[in-house]
Amino acid sequence: MALVVQKYGGTSVGSVERIRNVASRIAKTYDEGNDVVVIVSAMSGETNRLVALAAEITETPCEREYDVLVSTGEQVTISLLSMCLQSMGYDARSYLGSQIPMLTDKAHAKARIKSIGDENIRGDLKKGTIVIVAGFQGTDGEGNITTLGRGGSDTSAVAVAAALKADVCEIYTDVDGVYTTDPRMVPEAQKIEKISYDEMLEMASLGAKVLQIRSVEFAKKYNVVIHVRSSFHDGQGTLVMKEDHEMETVLVSGVAYNKDEAKISIFGVPDQPGISSQIFTPLSENNITVDMIIQNISHEGATDMTFTVPKSDCKKAVEIVEKIAEKINARGISHDMEISKVSIIGVGMRSHAGVASTMFSALSEEGINIQMISTSEIKVSCVVDAKYTELAVRVLHKAFGLDLPEIEEVL
Ligand code: ADP
Ligand code: ASP
Ligand code: MG
Repeated sequence: MALVVQKYGGTSVGSVERIRNVASRIAKTYDEGNDVVVIVSAMSGETNRLVALAAEITETPCEREYDVLVSTGEQVTISLLSMCLQSMGYDARSYLGSQIPMLTDKAHAKARIKSIGDENIRGDLKKGTIVIVAGFQGTDGEGNITTLGRGGSDTSAVAVAAALKADVCEIYTDVDGVYTTDPRMVPEAQKIEKISYDEMLEMASLGAKVLQIRSVEFAKKYNVVIHVRSSFHDGQGTLVMKEDHEMETVLVSGVAYNKDEAKISIFGVPDQPGISSQIFTPLSENNITVDMIIQNISHEGATDMTFTVPKSDCKKAVEIVEKIAEKINARGISHDMEISKVSIIGVGMRSHAGVASTMFSALSEEGINIQMISTSEIKVSCVVDAKYTELAVRVLHKAFGLDLPEIEEVL
């Protein structure tokens, strides 16, 4: 007998029929003699609908009320799923984040989990009850509802699995695993059998939304093996786990893209100590995260600086940077929302030369201009014109041999 944590995403619970399908899967796992704790998302499209409702009222909703609103989608699915299991003759009980309790900090809309009470869950499991938990939400311990950021149910699931020391954490979604790139964009993408925490973290940070970044951070910290798999088909999915020797033999494991960033440039910045701090401190004080930064070689005491910020913060960032540019006597600023970041990821890069140059050649052969570059030990990212996103992803996917089925299958 094992303790199994399962998470079902929005598409998997997107209709009453699909909720019935999920209930059957849960029942099967339970009937095999396991204790089962289930985390569910809102029905697909529901959280977007709620966010849009808030936007109709105001551009700047109070964060507390925003969380009260957007957390409601999960309340619907936990109750429907529990009812469904009960009608099938199983004992099931739903829990909101605050009833667990799932304690978080006070950072509304991007709260971090601090602790998870396991008493209620363990009590239920002992009685043979299937526990159904609302994903994405928590409480700050003072009666306020918090949410964990978009896609946060993944993090709820991994955190619950870590707190309960579950034997397995299964993330059921609408694709049957983690692929070498988004299978909706590139049909030739291949399912990855196992991927290291670090590669998955890079994939998620660089745009692959199949798992929320924080869920992977949690899994790495508490050594939770995540099994990403389909809620529609049986069969093995992808294991997200500690790095092993085999993983190092693959040069590039995946290609990711992110269209959610914008680029801001400041021209004619005086090349003096303290200038970067004058530019970036006000941005961080306004909670704007800056991603890539490049600074040109200076000419006659002045230089140009370019950096990226989330698209949603671009307007605010431009207002701030305009003021700074005036203060530091820069020549001017510009911004571009039509950019996209394409990245290659792989732990194998650490021990191989020439990966970046293969990437640059592949892009240049298609006439795709690289606007910015950033690298780390296990990834290379390039900013390109947004209209080339799909082409760039396809070309890189091919250039690194990811279109080919896995070697075992070829032999
Ligand atoms: P859920 O609602 O189950 O949480 P998500 O929409 O958040 O599902 O995540 C699954 C989606 O992630 C897939 O439908 C797929 O389009 C997208 N995706 C992006 N990159 C990848 C990748 N490398 N592997 C698998 N899926 C990916
Ligand atoms: N329902 C939330 C969202 O759409 C959380 C999740 O699905 O993981 O972002
Ligand atoms: Mg998701």
